Amino acid sequence: MAHLCKRLVSRSKQLYVVPSKLSLAAAYSSAHGAATKEDAAPSPPPELPPFHFSPSPYTGPSADEILQKRRRYMNPGIILYYKKHINLVQGKMQYLYDEKGKRYLDAFAGIVTVSCGHCHPEVVDAIIKQTRLLQHTTTIYLNEAVTEFAEALAQKLPGNLKVVYFVNSGGEANDMALMMARLYTGNYDVIALRNAYHGLSAATMGLNGQGIYKHGIPQGFGIHHAQNPNPYRGCYGSDASKYAADVTDLIETSTSGRLAGFFAETFQGVGGAVELAPGYLPLVYETVRKAGGVCIADEVQTAFGRLGSHYWGFETQGVIPDIVTMAKGLGNGLPVAAVVTTPEIASVLSHALHFNTFGGNPVCSAGGHAVLRVLEKEQRQQHCAEVGTYLLQRLHNLKDKHDIIGDVRGRGLMIGVELVRDRQTKEPARAETADLHEKLKDLGVLVGKGGMYGNVFRIKPPMCFNKEDADFLVEAMDYTMCKI
Ligand code: PMP
Repeated sequence: MAHLCKRLVSRSKQLYVVPSKLSLAAAYSSAHGAATKEDAAPSPPPELPPFHFSPSPYTGPSADEILQKRRRYMNPGIILYYKKHINLVQGKMQYLYDEKGKRYLDAFAGIVTVSCGHCHPEVVDAIIKQTRLLQHTTTIYLNEAVTEFAEALAQKLPGNLKVVYFVNSGGEANDMALMMARLYTGNYDVIALRNAYHGLSAATMGLNGQGIYKHGIPQGFGIHHAQNPNPYRGCYGSDASKYAADVTDLIETSTSGRLAGFFAETFQGVGGAVELAPGYLPLVYETVRKAGGVCIADEVQTAFGRLGSHYWGFETQGVIPDIVTMAKGLGNGLPVAAVVTTPEIASVLSHALHFNTFGGNPVCSAGGHAVLRVLEKEQRQQHCAEVGTYLLQRLHNLKDKHDIIGDVRGRGLMIGVELVRDRQTKEPARAETADLHEKLKDLGVLVGKGGMYGNVFRIKPPMCFNKEDADFLVEAMDYTMCKI
């Protein structure tokens, strides 16, 4: 593909773009005849920042043996990321180790889940302490660990969002929010966004706005998808009022006029780190409330300070939702999620008997509570702001060098790099993204891949990821991109 590799000089960990329009390859070409892109690649390959930790020797089965067993005994629908699979056996903070002791920089955090860092000692200690005392009670009994966690979580939310319902996963949290919205309003119709992702249960699959996450079964009853306010690819660019008008239109044309609710991630995750057009949520929340609906913010990926500028994603748009769902980073890897809402909305569940076997499990609660404490103590929100700003700047510089980068976007440590074949047509560089993704892994960096066309690198590492890691990540991207 026509891909210009401009010359970058790495000096004192900063990248300086040499103003010449000539690529290094072209410069070589005129001086020495035909040159390949490899000539322009920084060499030798970048190395991971030093880290003083020795992983335990691994004596288990090999990646190939595990793969065979997985193919035989596990559902084939569950995707695997790489062509040459990796068997991860140990983790420490922002790093992972495979069966051979090779270290990887984890820039995806197990799908935006490891918030404090892999095996963070304070989280591990809290889990062990509670596990030794009492592992499980269930919600029909009292237990201090669970209510302490609920109180700590409720204190993190603004306004009247003070009642917590614990569940086990993000999808389950959204299921519950959907039911609460319908019970509370007595209405049925729901609006969600195209390109959204909210889970894979039968109900949440209907909320998803990406065909690749849908099965051809009856699903999505009463759910209508609005135009996505995606500033890079959306049909109205960054014009929030036009996207908001589309919601009004959808209510008029496709619903009874009375809504149960409106679902949105405030920063689409699986959809490729898409920040909704500024000013969109205030307009739409007003319209939805006028139509009798409640506003649900899916904070499964965006919560707990990852965005740097704010603790919750919805705060970036200056709104307060009626229901907030969260998961992933809340447990640093423990299966814990929550639906937080107002006392009025929460009370609708009292109309029938309700319990949840694991929701609010003491071990998950003790671990989750420790996560909130650690993020606060280590000032991770501020850290995400600092490191994220630095990384974004470096990625913007990389965009100046590689035409394949169509868009660099994000906040804090929630970053997307969208790859295109042509910056004008924005044709997604799907195959190139897959190829680079694999090469990055071989160099020792794990990044996420997503977006409707699988052409967005999703950079959402554990929140302890630092500037040296950012340098390595950018240099690894540069190195691989010079070779395509
Ligand atoms: N909402 C969002 C925004 C998500 O990113 C995800 C998972 N990627 C979910 C919900 C579903 O979470 P889970 O996989 O825990 O069910």
